[in-house]
Amino acid sequence: MVTAPDSQKVWACTNGGELLSTTNAETNWNIQYPPGNTGLFYEVYFADTLQGWLTGYTELLQTTNGGQSWINHGSIFPSYQKLNVVAELPGVGKAGQECIITAHYDNTSENPANLAPGADDNGSGTAAVLEAAKVLKDYQFDRTIKFISFAGEEQGLLGSYAYAQKASQAGDTIVGVFNLDMIAWEGDSVNVIELHSGTGAASQALADITTGVINTYSLPLIPQKITIGATTRSDHASFWNYGYPAMLGIEDFDEFNPYYHTTNDLLSVLDLPYFTNFAKAGIASAAILAEPYPACLAVPGDVNASGGIPNLQDVIYLVNFVFDKSRVTPPCSGTDPVNCWPFDPICRGDVNGSGGTPNLQDVPGEQEVLWL
Ligand SMILES: [Zn+2]
Repeated sequence: MVTAPDSQKVWACTNGGELLSTTNAETNWNIQYPPGNTGLFYEVYFADTLQGWLTGYTELLQTTNGGQSWINHGSIFPSYQKLNVVAELPGVGKAGQECIITAHYDNTSENPANLAPGADDNGSGTAAVLEAAKVLKDYQFDRTIKFISFAGEEQGLLGSYAYAQKASQAGDTIVGVFNLDMIAWEGDSVNVIELHSGTGAASQALADITTGVINTYSLPLIPQKITIGATTRSDHASFWNYGYPAMLGIEDFDEFNPYYHTTNDLLSVLDLPYFTNFAKAGIASAAILAEPYPACLAVPGDVNASGGIPNLQDVIYLVNFVFDKSRVTPPCSGTDPVNCWPFDPICRGDVNGSGGTPNLQDVPGEQEVLWL
């Protein structure tokens, strides 16, 4: 949709739902972001240079000053309350840093009031998120992992937009979002998966994690990182809006699922081996970003990893660690020449088996020290 209130000023909406404007006869285009919206716009019309109307996926906006400000006339759909589903696996050492694996659980079709099965879009991503929670709950990670199914994606990323906005207002630290949306249609047996990271370095690093996982575990998938031209039409874009690193994993757009948004988006037409490998890549990516603790191979009391039964050197090592770690200014200036080290694996310093980073409770008492 394009509208030109005069020979210099032109407004347009793109297929990706962006609002563009030029004030110099299309020499330069600028993306416009009217406040308080989901960022998806499909129709724009200007009656003259000042009076304009804009419809988003969900909203109707009006300007009387050539787009300098917009009046929001609210939703053009009746309102419903829908809920995001959020589960959390608390991190051990860096609990304030969040890694998120997401999928939207709603769907639409040509007959949405009666049937919208959505096996690919997005039962596939939702199943992967549920499986992620089922598998990863038995392991410890430094960072917190959140498993989220979003509502209202099909109406314009509503659930994820609300979540990201709230997270931003609360000052949440989100180190990365892996959004899985349509991961089970494989039209040509080439097994391409697209990783839409955009141009931000931190988001691109997420795509690189997924590519690394595919190589490390020899998954039969061909990852393609999409930077310029990455789509904004799924929940990862809500996090981009608030400056959080995020990435979309999706099947090959070149082999687009012909049953997309129809009542025939059914399990029977999906490629389940492809889906399984895609889910594995997504789950492993979230696990790596969350920094798993290695398997506990050390003898718990053998703090300095010298082998043999715990002795006085282990106690000294542990005392240095505990007091250096708790020292605020200057940090880690204790007597041990190699202090400021992480405990790896954590169980080595976790002498009393309470879990978490070694602390004062792990340091043996006087009797134990005398015994050593
Ligand atoms: Zn979708």
